[in-house]
Amino acid sequence: MSRTRMSLLTALALLTGTSGAALIAVPAGASTAAAPCTVDYKVQNQWDTGFTAAVTITNNGAAKSSWSLKWSYAGNQKISNGWNAKVSQSGASVTAANESYNGTLGTGGSASFGFQASYSGTNAIPATFTLDGVTCNVDGGGPTDPGPTDPGPTDPEPTDPGPGGSKAANPYVGAKVYVNPEWSAKAAAEPGGSRISSQPTAVWLDRIAAINGVNGGMGLRAHLDEALKQKGSGELVVQLVIYDLPGRDCAALASNGELGPNDLDKYKSQYIDPITSILSESKYAGLRIATVIEPDSLPNLVTNAGGTNTTTDACVTMKSNGNYEKGVSYALDKLGALANVYNYIDAGHHGWLGWDSNLGPSVQEFAKVATSNGASMSDVAGFIVNTANYSPAKEPHFKVTDTVNGQTVRQSKWVDWNQYVDEQSFAIGLRDKLVAAGFDSGLGMLIDTSRNGWGGTARPAGPGPQTSVDAYVDGSRIDRRIHAGNWCNQSGAGIGERPTAAPATGIDAYVWVKPPGESDGNSAAIPNDEGKGFDRMCDPTYGGNARNGNNPTGALANAPLAGHWFPAQFQQLMQNAYPPLP
Ligand code: BGC
Repeated sequence: MSRTRMSLLTALALLTGTSGAALIAVPAGASTAAAPCTVDYKVQNQWDTGFTAAVTITNNGAAKSSWSLKWSYAGNQKISNGWNAKVSQSGASVTAANESYNGTLGTGGSASFGFQASYSGTNAIPATFTLDGVTCNVDGGGPTDPGPTDPGPTDPEPTDPGPGGSKAANPYVGAKVYVNPEWSAKAAAEPGGSRISSQPTAVWLDRIAAINGVNGGMGLRAHLDEALKQKGSGELVVQLVIYDLPGRDCAALASNGELGPNDLDKYKSQYIDPITSILSESKYAGLRIATVIEPDSLPNLVTNAGGTNTTTDACVTMKSNGNYEKGVSYALDKLGALANVYNYIDAGHHGWLGWDSNLGPSVQEFAKVATSNGASMSDVAGFIVNTANYSPAKEPHFKVTDTVNGQTVRQSKWVDWNQYVDEQSFAIGLRDKLVAAGFDSGLGMLIDTSRNGWGGTARPAGPGPQTSVDAYVDGSRIDRRIHAGNWCNQSGAGIGERPTAAPATGIDAYVWVKPPGESDGNSAAIPNDEGKGFDRMCDPTYGGNARNGNNPTGALANAPLAGHWFPAQFQQLMQNAYPPLP
């Protein structure tokens, strides 16, 4: 895992107007299976003078390679900017045309886009929408009704329950979470480890061989069979990390994987397809499967793939060959089609994407991948932040809005103009922007709290002195890292909040995705057959790079390969747990 960021800061908030306004969802006009197209137009946030809206078009007619949707307003609505479509307005008439990446609309396919507009008076929903001249939401539709190619009511994708389908609003509510017996045994074998060994942790499918089990270990079916036992007659969530993209971990070396940059076909046919086929076996239909989709991949495309001082050649390659995007879309599409699978896309952490100048483009990237190559926004249950990272869920002693002697804490060296200081505020801010960009308004966020507790003797008991912004922030912050860009085996870290369902509005759960005690990367070169390299961000003697402001790495010494058991780290994590362990 790399935990990288770009700290350049002047920010243009691409998506605005999402704060504090009530959510207003307006159902679209009646649609019937025989309508040639359906349009779902939802006002998402509305305030005195403006609103944002999300529009989803579904094409029930013949496949298209480009599209243009038109409507007109009865009031004085005036669109200022759109995303995921080219939106223009002339008088009351609006045209939204596809972007280059979402022009393909197969039969039954959907595309979503959003926009921001001003208005006054009432904000009525447009009465009529036409897609390429054909009226939507109405049986028959008008001039070019597709006729013989119309797939009829049962087609397409009969297994896809669609938005809302039979999926739970929050799969964690009312459910136990799967305890991985392999991790649990390792934890229990360490002195004091039984205090946490019955906590649920995620199963990492970090290579093709993990599907059948590595070195005689449990494969996916073995985990699911065990999960059925743990489930009994109640509900149970199994957490799987989907982590084997071509050219994996392009901004770092510690978690490089087995697939080369061009191995997209192998990723699909030997990794995602077999996982999908096992998950779709009927005996597993009663399990709730939460997938964490490809940690770091899309954030790396946003901040490390060109035009920044953090760019790497490997990320430039993965951006230009499109294989991260195609792989993630494919995984969302195939896994999301299963009625019991909940896809959570990885969204880095606040110390990586928390600047508006990174977050706006990230939201656009997520929306693009979730509406391309067969994926649709209904394949996405939510997003996860802080996967395998160390950023606190909450900084209890200072807020981003605090000032010291008239200076904002955003000016401090630690915050460095970030818009967020912790993961929970970041997750909620990101969620608002995602919903404004067209994602489901029921989107749920996960926070990986396995190693972000920062307890122990170095934890500040209250706010720092008000002598300067730096003294205040450095005295207040529980995150004791040298720099928030440090990500490998952090010295001083502790176990964080225990896994909890629905800890706050918009947050589906606190989860332990990174199993405590498993290394982030080796602190010196180690030959291996897993494709893993030696990243000096895991070397305690290294002076850092642009992604951590050229600071020391804060990594523990004597660390084994990423994913391998690291007893000294496990002890330190328990020692510094917060809340403390009994
Ligand atoms: C490693 C994976 C491992 C995971 C969980 C990652 O950093 O690359 O091999 O499964 O961590 O420990």
